[in-house]
Amino acid sequence: MTYWQAEVETMSRADLEKLQLEYLKKTIRIATNSPFYNKIFKEHHITSDSICSLDDLKKIPFTTKEDLRNNYPFGMAAIPIQQCVRLHSSSGTTGNPTVVLHSAKDLNEWANQVARCMYMVGLRDTDIFQNTSGYGMFTGGLGFQYGAEKLGALTVPAAAGNTKRQLKFITDFGTTCLHIIPSYATRLAEVMRESGIDPRRDTKLHTVCIGAEPHSEEQRLRIEELLGVKAYNCFGMSEMNGPGVAFECKEQNGMHIWEDYVIVEIIDPVTLEHVPEGEVGELVLTTINREAMPLLRYRTRDLTRIISGDCPCGRTHKRIDRFKGRSDDMIILKGVNLFPIQIETVLMKFKELGNNYLITIDQDEMQIEVELSDLFTDDYSVLQRLTKEITRQLKDELLLTPKLKLVGRGSLPVQEGKAVRVKDLRKF
Ligand code: ADP
Ligand code: ZN
Repeated sequence: MTYWQAEVETMSRADLEKLQLEYLKKTIRIATNSPFYNKIFKEHHITSDSICSLDDLKKIPFTTKEDLRNNYPFGMAAIPIQQCVRLHSSSGTTGNPTVVLHSAKDLNEWANQVARCMYMVGLRDTDIFQNTSGYGMFTGGLGFQYGAEKLGALTVPAAAGNTKRQLKFITDFGTTCLHIIPSYATRLAEVMRESGIDPRRDTKLHTVCIGAEPHSEEQRLRIEELLGVKAYNCFGMSEMNGPGVAFECKEQNGMHIWEDYVIVEIIDPVTLEHVPEGEVGELVLTTINREAMPLLRYRTRDLTRIISGDCPCGRTHKRIDRFKGRSDDMIILKGVNLFPIQIETVLMKFKELGNNYLITIDQDEMQIEVELSDLFTDDYSVLQRLTKEITRQLKDELLLTPKLKLVGRGSLPVQEGKAVRVKDLRKF
């Protein structure tokens, strides 16, 4: 069997859209019970009967993170709280926390989405899956846990940090697959090398699922090379449950987004109109198979585009491209707009460079500190030539000239969770 759920994964566009409309109408009926949507539906005269085609989705206003914050904690619930069995809350690092509620059915559907993703990249019940995500509120922990159990894999809920222990589990248990944040994957590979472990010789690792933070194609290739694995990009966000929203298939060319769970729109964040297919814009998602807390036209703030054309894997669900970043990650410097990922793309091409870097913005200056690979020389003239070449390539990419500083390995801070790559001193 090639697919986890062949019928739905390869459904024709017409059938998929019919299913989406039916699910959308049902979602509107459920959402009417939430105080937040009830008010909006009244104001805009929306009922499930007034939505006659997918195009009618446009009649519904967008929902934002601000709405979630303003209705904290339970103002978005569409079923009685007694019928909810879990809540996840965002860290609140960028403001008040947000809450997402789940019923038992919601959790089961979420696990199904994750299992579908894992199956898609070749994982089976014979695999040993180690999850290096934090458990608790961070959805990468429990989200993958239940998905992997549904798939039938043997799960190792190692949780975040304690790299030496991670390595012991990988070697002792014969772990074949990891779920890991990209910045931590390179860190793990470094510690492996320091400990004399050759991943190809000493471990059974063959697959890693990487996500939760922006990363470049170059970083993916590095992770594959360092760990001797295939690395698949996975996208999730707490508001959309967590992991399992979209995932790469074996083609590694865009992430299939499960359209029996969400309706995808890409909008221009300024005009709020749809962009032509294939163009980059803000991802907007509508949950159509969730009951505790449906979200309609949720503005994710993530920037991506739809990849046109059929995927050779046979799945018909749309593919979204690797993320350019979040709209709030955009750096504006000397009138130039740029994203940290553009810098990473250049840096990761240089074998002489390590995996950790830090961008500091002060007034109208950008400084990039990047660690050298420890295999590299400390010959001053060689380093000078290297600095010049990297700066030239950065200038071509960014259209401005950053100050580049090559530093020794281990000199930049490492985070346990998502990597912090940018320090913007103008914001303090
Ligand atoms: P928080 O908003 O506190 O960071 P989440 O864990 O819900 O909490 O983070 C979701 C966000 O993480 C997404 O909106 C996106 O910006 C980022 N993200 C998740 N997966 C990926 C991925 N595969 N590539 C790039 N960014 C990702
Ligand atoms: Zn595919």
